[in-house]
Amino acid sequence: MTQPNASIRPSIRCLGLDREFAVESFEELAENALCAICRDVIEDPKEVDCSDDKHVFCGPFINEAIRRRPSCPLCRGAISKISNVNPTTRNIFQEVKWKCLNFKSGCEFKGVKKELEKHLDEECEKQERDCPFVLQGCTQKGLLSFISPHKQTCPFRLVPCEHCKEDIALNAMDSHLTECKSFPVECTSGCGMKLPRGELPAHTKRNCPEATIQCPVPGCGETRKRKAMEEHEKDSDAMRTHINLVLSRCQHLEKKLKRFATKDDIPHETEKRITVQFPNYGTRANALQRGQPLQSLPFTFQGSRYVLSVYPKGTNGSQPGYAGLGMHKYSGGQVKLSLTVEVSKTGLPPKTHNLHWPSGNANNVITIAVNTFTASSALLTAARLNRGTLELSVRLASPLVLSGYSSQ
Ligand SMILES: [Zn+2]
Ligand SMILES: [Zn+2]
Ligand SMILES: [Zn+2]
Ligand SMILES: [Zn+2]
Ligand SMILES: [Zn+2]
Ligand SMILES: [Zn+2]
Ligand SMILES: [Zn+2]
Repeated sequence: MTQPNASIRPSIRCLGLDREFAVESFEELAENALCAICRDVIEDPKEVDCSDDKHVFCGPFINEAIRRRPSCPLCRGAISKISNVNPTTRNIFQEVKWKCLNFKSGCEFKGVKKELEKHLDEECEKQERDCPFVLQGCTQKGLLSFISPHKQTCPFRLVPCEHCKEDIALNAMDSHLTECKSFPVECTSGCGMKLPRGELPAHTKRNCPEATIQCPVPGCGETRKRKAMEEHEKDSDAMRTHINLVLSRCQHLEKKLKRFATKDDIPHETEKRITVQFPNYGTRANALQRGQPLQSLPFTFQGSRYVLSVYPKGTNGSQPGYAGLGMHKYSGGQVKLSLTVEVSKTGLPPKTHNLHWPSGNANNVITIAVNTFTASSALLTAARLNRGTLELSVRLASPLVLSGYSSQ
């Protein structure tokens, strides 16, 4: 007997039916209703064009068989097509009535396959079955007449824990109770409180007056019971120690902060490359007048904050038909910067512009404009070719100038 590979489709359950199990008037039909691959009633029937007879098999099994060898498992005829059987045939297979697998032991049940499955699982007096607590470790098997009373007294039967309400195998209950989080225990620090085992750590950490804790002042190191810690905090010697500890901690942090701030003040980069995107460029550009910009998200370079702008219809100083560029710098100070911009999808070479911010009021935003950047239409086309997003590859470069003295 061929054993089908169980991993193919576990939902098809093979009972091991054979012609001898068919109820008398169904014997003929049973012959056709059995799959030659899995030797069971055909499920999800598919027919193949191996011969004029068109042999029929369980869908999942014939698919698997053909993957290995494209010929009919029954007649070895070549297969070029697998198709669904007509609904009438499909139904006839399901209508075949079967005797119980245990008919030789005297069970008189008769029914279609679905009914037979249920009968074997739940009712058949002649079917040997596992104890329902097999997963808990019971190895008992037997007929219904044995299993029915057995499961009432099975040592592996599930009962709810009276503390956490979880179902636990009866013979594992003692060991469960030694770790059940809801089991009531007495506080291990000796305060006399009874509480669920799972809450003990939080009680000890936060509330228990008998728990030993550390003085909260960093560096003090005093350990006492929680109920005695207040006394320590009020003690005048301890108070002096605490003030000194807190003071030196403050000084330490201050020093650290200063070092950190100094480091961050130094401009440390001489070059930066960023990609600036203006999504939905066409729509936004069309809504603007000449002289109005689209502004990028802000970015920083050498400690200053910048925003890059595109003037789709030009700045007020642009040639007609040309778009302009702008760089806004958000803090004062003299800066010389070379700005190189390449527009993605145009195929045009990158252009470099030298920008020079004069020293000025630190609170002013100073914009330097490149009046004639590129044709307005070129930007619209570039955005269209890039799913609507205008993308600029930007390179900022500036020599690193260090002016000033290190503090000792
Ligand atoms: Zn089959
Ligand atoms: Zn065939
Ligand atoms: Zn039976
Ligand atoms: Zn059992
Ligand atoms: Zn429990
Ligand atoms: Zn306690
Ligand atoms: Zn202390």
